Amino acid sequence: MNLLIMGLPGAGKGTQASKIVDAFGVAHISTGDMFRAAMANQTEMGTLAKSFIDKGELVPDEVTNGIVKERLAENDIAEKGFLLDGYPRTIEQAFALDQTLSDLGIELDGVINIEVDPSCLLERLSGRIIHRETGETFHKVFNPPVGDYNEDDYYQREDDKPETVKRRLDVNIAQGEPIINHYREKGLVFDIEGNQDINDVFEDVKKVISSLNN
Ligand code: ADP
Ligand code: AMP
Repeated sequence: MNLLIMGLPGAGKGTQASKIVDAFGVAHISTGDMFRAAMANQTEMGTLAKSFIDKGELVPDEVTNGIVKERLAENDIAEKGFLLDGYPRTIEQAFALDQTLSDLGIELDGVINIEVDPSCLLERLSGRIIHRETGETFHKVFNPPVGDYNEDDYYQREDDKPETVKRRLDVNIAQGEPIINHYREKGLVFDIEGNQDINDVFEDVKKVISSLNN
């Protein structure tokens, strides 16, 4: 099964993606995670990506399209299918993805679109914490780690600071609509109510994916 998960920053894409991967065994391809890994390893691409990410801007399309194309061509994708998270983020990326999938003979099965009220996103992003060891995402209030936890085991993303979040939301709101419309025209979009508890969102996501599986 080959899926996209879309939604504004903080909509819950990564949170749902990890549940989808556990339940359905698809490969999770998150461009944000790929850039953060490259930044941590201080590769040339990581340094370039950092200069955009720190300002809340998008990394240029040529770079982003290149890493996705390479990843989709790897062997496990044909076997397991994929869930693309955080890509495409511009209409040009959507066109590039169409081309890449058609070159590889892969068809997209669906686009999971998590809809949230943008006014809740600052709170979601400013409370987001990530477990250093596993990379798992939590929220200080909405999804805290179980039991007494040591704050030092978790970090906050640099680009989750309020100044950067505002720019990220503006950029993503401006770019998002044409992309969703592109996939709506193909009849691939499934809208999910994202303003509900994490597990309730996942129940709705599971219904959609199960209907695609049959
Ligand atoms: P995205 O990948 O779309 O940027 P995340 O999955 O990282 O978003 O979620 C952003 C923050 O909001 C995280 O701290 C996460 O724990 C929290 N979160 C995710 N889904 C929900 C939800 N349905 N209700 C409340 N908080 C949520
Ligand atoms: P995310 O983890 O999806 O919130 O992404 C974090 C940051 O990485 C974004 O704010 C962008 O700067 C960059 N990024 C992630 N995915 C893309 C993409 N598809 N196109 C351009 N930049 C991206």
